[in-house]
Amino acid sequence: MIERKNIDNENEMLALGQNLAAHWHAPLMVYLLGDLGAGKTTLVRGWLRGLGYQGIVKSPTYTLVESYHFAGQSIHHFDLYRLTDPEELYYIGLEEYLQPQSICLVEWPQQGKGVLPAADIIIEIAIKGSAREVMISQPSVR
Ligand code: ADP
Ligand code: MG
Repeated sequence: MIERKNIDNENEMLALGQNLAAHWHAPLMVYLLGDLGAGKTTLVRGWLRGLGYQGIVKSPTYTLVESYHFAGQSIHHFDLYRLTDPEELYYIGLEEYLQPQSICLVEWPQQGKGVLPAADIIIEIAIKGSAREVMISQPSVR
């Protein structure tokens, strides 16, 4: 466990994403855990803003992945909710997303179990009414 945070509203979740963007750098695999509506996509929006991205961040629910290329980096935002088999990740060209300058932020990583590389950071969001409890851990450093 690195830290546990209480996030009272959407703006605080955006701010957390921005802070994480300042502290973690490519290459990076981030698992985002939490129910629908927990705030995973909101955190990704904050992360992208933290890196200076000003545009729209769409939820990749149907496309599985949305990529953002700027400032010499690639941020790949995955949402594997609709993945029916982890092997499908090979068909979307997973290897191309795993580059030294890539940050992968993955919602529903459980769906890619066995194919998706291990996480460098796991961010788990629990819904507590209108607030959220966020737990951040680094599985390789216990
Ligand atoms: P997910 O990607 O986990 O399904 P989203 O980020 O798309 O979730 O949606 C989270 C929703 O919850 C947004 O509509 C956001 O406004 C709302 N929300 C309410 N309270 C919070 C909070 N404390 N932190 C993050 N989002 C919150
Ligand atoms: Mg989402």
